[in-house]
Amino acid sequence: MADIIQLLPDHVANQIAAGEVVQRPASVVKELLENAIDAKATDITLVVKDAGKTLVQVTDNGSGMSITDARLSFERHATSKIKSAEDLFNLHTKGFRGEALASIAAIAHVELKTRTDTSEIGTHLTIEGSKVVSQDPAVVPKGTTISVKNLFYNIPARRNFLKSNPVETRHIIDEFHRVALAHPTVSFQMLHNGSDVFNLPASNSRQRIVHIFGSKTNEKLVPVSEETEIIKIEGFVMKPEYSKKSRGEQFFFVNDRFIKSPYLHHAVSSAFEGLMKNDVHPGYFLFLEVDPHSIDINIHPTKTEIKFDDEHAIYAMLRATVKHSLGQFNIAPVLDFERDKGFDTPYEYSKKSPTAPSIEVDRDFNPFQERAKQGNIKFPFKREVSPSWESLYVGLKDDSGHAHPSGLRSSTEAEMEMEFESEEVTGSIFESKETETGQVTLQLQNKYIVSPLKNGMMVIHQNLAHQRVLYEELLKNITVKEAVSQQLLFPLELHFSKPDVAIIEKVREQLEHTGFIFSELKDETIEISGIPVQILESHVVNLLSQLVHDIKEEVPDTGFSQNDMLAKSMAASMAIKSGVSLNKEEREHLINQLFACKEPTVSPTNKPVFTTLDVSDLDKKFM
Ligand code: ADP
Ligand code: MG
Repeated sequence: MADIIQLLPDHVANQIAAGEVVQRPASVVKELLENAIDAKATDITLVVKDAGKTLVQVTDNGSGMSITDARLSFERHATSKIKSAEDLFNLHTKGFRGEALASIAAIAHVELKTRTDTSEIGTHLTIEGSKVVSQDPAVVPKGTTISVKNLFYNIPARRNFLKSNPVETRHIIDEFHRVALAHPTVSFQMLHNGSDVFNLPASNSRQRIVHIFGSKTNEKLVPVSEETEIIKIEGFVMKPEYSKKSRGEQFFFVNDRFIKSPYLHHAVSSAFEGLMKNDVHPGYFLFLEVDPHSIDINIHPTKTEIKFDDEHAIYAMLRATVKHSLGQFNIAPVLDFERDKGFDTPYEYSKKSPTAPSIEVDRDFNPFQERAKQGNIKFPFKREVSPSWESLYVGLKDDSGHAHPSGLRSSTEAEMEMEFESEEVTGSIFESKETETGQVTLQLQNKYIVSPLKNGMMVIHQNLAHQRVLYEELLKNITVKEAVSQQLLFPLELHFSKPDVAIIEKVREQLEHTGFIFSELKDETIEISGIPVQILESHVVNLLSQLVHDIKEEVPDTGFSQNDMLAKSMAASMAIKSGVSLNKEEREHLINQLFACKEPTVSPTNKPVFTTLDVSDLDKKFM
């Protein structure tokens, strides 16, 4: 019998290999973007037409290729990235198989323009179905542009198998996100059918996430950071309340390579246990760094799977680290009930220029009426924190807009400036002696504090209430400059981007008035040796990152509005969150603090802090 085995011609072998490497236009996007990263580009532009079916083009300002390399790059197993099998275990590049360009060139019309830094003339090469059509010298910018046109033109079955344009575009954007997130210091542009889809400046990883997923994302991120002998974990998880029903933003990167790992996903999900409902998924952007020797990425041609030497240890560390970060974020740092009240600065405006109390003449005054007994002088000043907060509540308009039964006016003016009554009147709205001392308060859903009133009940939003308390306290500290700080045993060293440190430098003075002590503010480092008493050390990073973000968003101009913004931002970071359980003393303390505020009715961002429900409101429900 005649010999029947033949070596396949290269172009057939390439086409077969292409079946594995190039499944859809998004695969081309991934390979080209990764090649640009490997070429050390700092600026990369992706241009796509018709969901990549007509054109995928990547331009970079990286190393470029020599004339010979340009030709060789389309050969199978031609790579500049590894030389021997050992190199496989010390990979610092995305590519290494030398397959991508060969595969792509087998199934599309490809055009390459490239020039290295050292040569004046570049090269322009066209290749179709693995056949070089032309290669000419060309005047081109430094770097490389590869255009891939008419993908699968010679494999109609594959072309017909492609999904609709929106679906293929989605896949392309996913790949774009993965590369862009892993390389925040590289700037990326993406255009689709001539219009801008993304324009991402070089930045840090938090900013990159925000640029891609929108400015609302920033407040959802909880920083994660841990370094051990075998792994370094950096990145962010989304706060549990932003978990999604659908699988949302879930990204693992190992040594800057996007990977999929159900196993590690499980580690992260289990760290969220008890913090979110069962049917939602946490979002995360986690960057793991391990010794390249300890992983094997040579498992899958598209390389999104990875094998770790010590999977169990990595699982355990990842879970613990995420749990720790969530814990730091969730534990309310602020209510320090053990604190000696004597250390607190009393709330008074001693340093402010005095305002004359306004005295109003009541034209309806009738000395023969009962209510004449009540004083009607408005105090623009704050009274000492009274343990019987209820007395301070008197005079605030209830929700329905009716005046309280105590007979006070309920004009808008009265809402703005609290009126104080003689003691005999206060307390009368409360059910009994017991409620008056605040003993009957309860917490609803770890979110609201409910307290009965004589005529109904009051429901207080714990987070907004605490924001109000902190806001007034911080604002006062910033302007009056007399906050107490807690010295740290070991100075806290934090790292931010240079521009972020510069922003903190700008508000340094104000921050110091709130109790921060900065021992160093330089380049990318902030060293802190003292922090405000109302905050836990572990919470400082979050607070400062949030503050930097808020400052960037707000672009404050005048001194006053900047102080205001600062106090708002810090209060929002520091306030007890919804979901935190408060015991009886904590509830009472918060209520007392709230009603010692200048404006207890609204939060710093103008949301109502509490609402009241009258018995008459309830009665209506039973009619
Ligand atoms: P791999 O990336 O696995 O090495 P590819 O087929 O993707 O294989 O690329 C082959 C070679 O072509 C690379 O090793 C590299 O030397 C060169 N190359 C590809 N794209 C670029 C680029 N954008 N800039 C410079 N060189 C490139
Ligand atoms: Mg490659």
